[in-house]
Amino acid sequence: MSSANLTASDLAVPAAPPTPNAESGRPGVALRLERVSKHYHSTVAVRDVTLHVARGEFLTLLGPSGSGKTTTLMMIAGFVIPTAGRIYLGERDITLLPPHKRGFGMVFQSYALFPHMTVFDNIAYPLRMRGVGASEIASRVCRALAMVQLEGYEQRRPRQLSGGQQQRVALARALVFNPPVLLMDEPLGALDRKLRERMQLEIKHLQRELGITMVYVTHDQEEALVMSDRVVVMSQGRIEQVGSPDDLYEQPANRFVADFLGESNFLEGRVEQVDDRAATLVTDDGLRVRLALRPGLAAGSAASLALRPERVRIGASDGLANRYEGVVREVIYVGENTRYRVQIGAVTVLTAKRPNLADGPRPSIGEHLTIGWQPEDMVVV
Ligand code: ADP
Ligand code: MG
Repeated sequence: MSSANLTASDLAVPAAPPTPNAESGRPGVALRLERVSKHYHSTVAVRDVTLHVARGEFLTLLGPSGSGKTTTLMMIAGFVIPTAGRIYLGERDITLLPPHKRGFGMVFQSYALFPHMTVFDNIAYPLRMRGVGASEIASRVCRALAMVQLEGYEQRRPRQLSGGQQQRVALARALVFNPPVLLMDEPLGALDRKLRERMQLEIKHLQRELGITMVYVTHDQEEALVMSDRVVVMSQGRIEQVGSPDDLYEQPANRFVADFLGESNFLEGRVEQVDDRAATLVTDDGLRVRLALRPGLAAGSAASLALRPERVRIGASDGLANRYEGVVREVIYVGENTRYRVQIGAVTVLTAKRPNLADGPRPSIGEHLTIGWQPEDMVVV
């Protein structure tokens, strides 16, 4: 299924060009949260969050369960009133504006379709609420159904649809009234993996085509990387880091981000020596590691390094600045690649990930080999 046959003009939404980096340029900013917090008695659900969403941007709140994603989204939607801070739509302060006056589209994990209504009536509902005339409703519902590839399903009831189809009806209902902002909270959580991946691309495609400003919530890091212009990583009600998917993946600001987005090996130690080309770190396990120079790296200081498994080369590691003899302790086959757990010190075990090529060597448990990586493969966290 694709939505390639749709254009922005189908929905008559002025499609603003995405300006994901317009952090402070007011004209490009659709939505602003300024120092927003939410307390429930002694629980701090959201802590001093400041966030600017550009017009036409796909922004994702990513974090583990309980990190404050839903509470943040509910404050944007107007269902939860912040304990502190302000929320703006453009220049307008909407902190206390009731949800129905914000005019945002919303899609949640539970489809929340009206079970007794047909697909047509479900999608027509927000238009009827706004007093749109019957013929206008008919044509807009028709276009919204085409967008989500459900033409011909007008007279079905929700229970006669699959989970994916129900979620597409919910999406059509959220889009039918041309909302300036679309909010989604784990909308694909109940779908199986294949369908989820297809829906991710479809939602992304529609969002871009319609120029909608999207705030999307997920705990699935892969989903966040695939769909977003920018990702906000949250933990315990706080923002840990904001950035484009590749920024976050390549330059995680701290250990939490390095660990939550993808997989990382961590090496802890003390900087032993800094010369004009690189620094040498000695880990608690006595391993010497060469790392790229960066400001603030001084002899004697403690450092924590993150190293992605796909950057660890096993077998042919000639010419690498960091090179160790190791023993394979574990081999985990995961289809397109294999993860090797390789012990290189008394206690240090690193994960290396390698694509499963037809002609590549396949080390087995107990095998001795060399593993290595370059100084620039590591990030200080
Ligand atoms: P997430 O969506 O990231 O899983 P939530 O925003 O739902 O996180 O919750 C963040 C924290 O706030 C959690 O500790 C949760 O238990 C708490 N919380 C959320 N809503 C309420 C509420 N209505 N009353 C009390 N505590 C709440
Ligand atoms: Mg939630």
